[in-house]
Amino acid sequence: MIKQMKMSRLWIIKLTLIVFLAAIISLAGYQLYTHRHFQVPLITGPGVTKVVKLSEYSPGIKGTMADTNVFFLEGSEEGGKILILANTHANEPAALLTALLFIENAVVDKGTMIIIPMFNNSAGRNTRPGDGYPLYFEIPTKWGSKKFRMGNRDASPLDQWPDPDVYVHYPDKQLLSFLDVRNTNRTWPGRAKGPLMERVTFGAMEIMRKENVDIAIDIHGAETMFPVTNCIVAPEKSMRIAVMTTLTVKSREHFDSHVEPSPSGFRGLSHREIGDYADTFPFLLEAPIPFLDQPTGPKTVDLLLDGKDPFLLSLSKKGKLFVPYDEEGWSMEKRVGQHCSVTLEIMSQYSKKNPDRTIRISSVPRYADVLKNGVGYYYHDPNKTDKKNIIYN
Ligand SMILES: [Zn+2]
Repeated sequence: MIKQMKMSRLWIIKLTLIVFLAAIISLAGYQLYTHRHFQVPLITGPGVTKVVKLSEYSPGIKGTMADTNVFFLEGSEEGGKILILANTHANEPAALLTALLFIENAVVDKGTMIIIPMFNNSAGRNTRPGDGYPLYFEIPTKWGSKKFRMGNRDASPLDQWPDPDVYVHYPDKQLLSFLDVRNTNRTWPGRAKGPLMERVTFGAMEIMRKENVDIAIDIHGAETMFPVTNCIVAPEKSMRIAVMTTLTVKSREHFDSHVEPSPSGFRGLSHREIGDYADTFPFLLEAPIPFLDQPTGPKTVDLLLDGKDPFLLSLSKKGKLFVPYDEEGWSMEKRVGQHCSVTLEIMSQYSKKNPDRTIRISSVPRYADVLKNGVGYYYHDPNKTDKKNIIYN
């Protein structure tokens, strides 16, 4: 009798634990499912002339989560062409915020801008629960706030799986980390029938080859403790324009963004392979993102947006960071403002040297404007926008 009572009590404990675990798994699963399927309204501004899918250039991604929107802003006068890539790493969101600023506001007088705001769309629907990443963040605006998914560095295993033991880069056969097979800054130049992320970078290469793109800018963010931060990474062919850009923003807009040479022996990166496999001049922009540094406090939305962290502050005082860092942190406004000005200046420097391939745009804020007004000031209210001008991504 006693034995039976003990048995039934044990079963009650087991059942309670199973129900408890099932509840946790369902709740977490529901949160991850809604995050993966949350759609951000992207508003097409006065410059946008057409929006197509990347799968038009790389049919191998059609119908997958890797497919993404490509915005064309074609000027009234013919000229040069620029491709802007954002969210190559979807946990470096200053890139996406900058790209949307261009899509919503740019007026193109001459030449064409092609913008892919969520380049690794699968990574933008992935997260890093082990690091306590927030699932969303919001940017304050005049009309409320605009909500975004916080993504991850790599594409979701739900879209590309299993990973190999090592990633053998195509076509150089360099051995890279297994994770890099889902990292769209290691899978360049890609191939039409390779792993899904190679098909994504292949699509961008096809845009550059078929549309005769002059300049490609891949926007990123990097840790303050990483030496390649707050800079423009450029291969030999882009070096002159990168140096002129650095000097000009320093003298006219009073911020630093030094030049780093693209190493020729490290394969798979946009700033290396784009230049080698297309006639395009590549540039990769890095702005400091304290959120990604390892010795920080909790990975909160505040840290993501203002970049203020006491551990980094003490490391800065010991000279361990590669950028100046004080109580002010490194705000999202500063990062987006830098990306706007550097992108505009690269276009201007290229146009000066190649007048027949000029790209001339207006109505995009520069560094000082974004610092003064904030990023959200330049976003339009989706509720007051004609539905035909809203693209969900
Ligand atoms: Zn990056």
